[in-house]
Amino acid sequence: MYKIPVYQPSLSGNEKKYVNDCLDSNWISSKGKYVSLFEKEFASYINIKYATGVCNGTVALHLALSALGIGHGDEVIVPTLTYIASVNSIVYTGATPVFVDSLSDTWQIDPQEVIKSITPRTKAIMAVHLYGHPCEMSVLQEIADEHRLFLIEDCAEAIGSQYQSQHVGIFGDIATFSFYGNKTLTTGEGGMVITNDKTIFERTIHLKGQGLAKYREYWHDIIGYNYRMTNICAAIGLAQLERIDEILLKKRKIADLYKELLQNTEFKVHPEIGDVHHSYWMVSILVSQASQRDRIRQNLAQAGIETRPVFYPVHTMPMYSHKYQRHKVAEDIGWRGINLPSFPDLTEQEIVYICDCLKNSLI
Ligand SMILES: *Cc1c(COP(=O)(O)O)cnc(C)c1O
Repeated sequence: MYKIPVYQPSLSGNEKKYVNDCLDSNWISSKGKYVSLFEKEFASYINIKYATGVCNGTVALHLALSALGIGHGDEVIVPTLTYIASVNSIVYTGATPVFVDSLSDTWQIDPQEVIKSITPRTKAIMAVHLYGHPCEMSVLQEIADEHRLFLIEDCAEAIGSQYQSQHVGIFGDIATFSFYGNKTLTTGEGGMVITNDKTIFERTIHLKGQGLAKYREYWHDIIGYNYRMTNICAAIGLAQLERIDEILLKKRKIADLYKELLQNTEFKVHPEIGDVHHSYWMVSILVSQASQRDRIRQNLAQAGIETRPVFYPVHTMPMYSHKYQRHKVAEDIGWRGINLPSFPDLTEQEIVYICDCLKNSLI
C-alpha cells in the first residue's frame, strides 16, 4: 500500500451520527428524511430550483440525457478528454458521441471545435468541468442557443467550481454530479441531477422511479429505471455538505502549495484561467516529455506516493476508436498529465515530500 494515496474521503463530521440514525430508525432504503434533506440543501448550495439524488454519477448522466429525450439518431458533442462515463452514458441512450478536442490552457472543451462538429443530427453539447476547472460556459451557451441545442453539464468533478461567480451546473438545461468515494463530496456511491426547468425535472423523477404514473399506484406509463439514492448515502451526503466549505478551502490550500513549490520547475500545474474558481478536485501537472511520465510515476510509487495518469482521451479506446481522428491537445495532455495526491487531509509536509520526490525524479 502507498504511504500517500491519491485520494481518500474525509468523514470527520456528522457522517457516522446520521448513518447510525438511519440504522436506528430502520430507514435504510431510498425512503427516509435524509434523501429530501440532502436534495434540498444541495439545491440551495448550488442555487438551483430542483435537485434529485441518484445512485451514482454515471446514471445521473444517463437520466439527464434521457430526460432531454436524447436517443437513437441523435448526436451529442462531448470532449474526448474526460472520464469514460461521460461518453458511455450517451451510448446507453442509443445516441452517438461526437468527440471534440480541448483547449490547451484550461484543458476544457474547445468551443471552436464544438461549432465545427455540429450537424443536423446534433441534439446536445455535454460540457465536462474537468478536474474542477469550469468550461467556457457563456460561449457554450451562445452556441447552444444559436443552434437550438441542449446544454448538459457534467459537474462530477466540479462541486465548488464557479464560472463568473456562479456555481457550475446552472448554465445548462440540466447538470449532474458524482459522489463516488474519491470525489470532493462523497456518499460512497451516489450522484445528483439538477435543473431549473420544472418539466425537465418532472421527467427526471418519472424516469428515475421506474416510470411510475402519478395518478395510479403500481401503474407505470413509461419504461423507467431504478436510479434512486439510499437514505444511508444521503445521510453521508448531508454531513459532507455541512463541511463543504472547509473541505474546499483545504483543497484550495493544497493546490496553492503545490503551485508554489513547483514554480520554476519543468512541471506545469493545471492553472486557473479566466473569471472562474477552480475547485481542484485533482491537482494535476504536465511533465515536459510524454516519455518521462511513466518513469516519474514509478519513482513516486517507489517513494510511497500514489499518482494517476490524467484520463486517456476516450476516442483512443478500443470501443470508440473505429473512426479514429486526431485530437491533438487531448492526446498531448493525456500522455503528459499526472494527477497528484489531492485529498483534503493531505498535510503540508506530505506535499513538500511529494514535490521533492518529483524534482528528484528528473535527475
Ligand atoms: C466520476 C465521474 C463520473 C461518474 O461518476 P460515478 O459516480 O463514478 O458513476 C462521470 N463523469 C465524470 C467526469 C467523472 O469524473
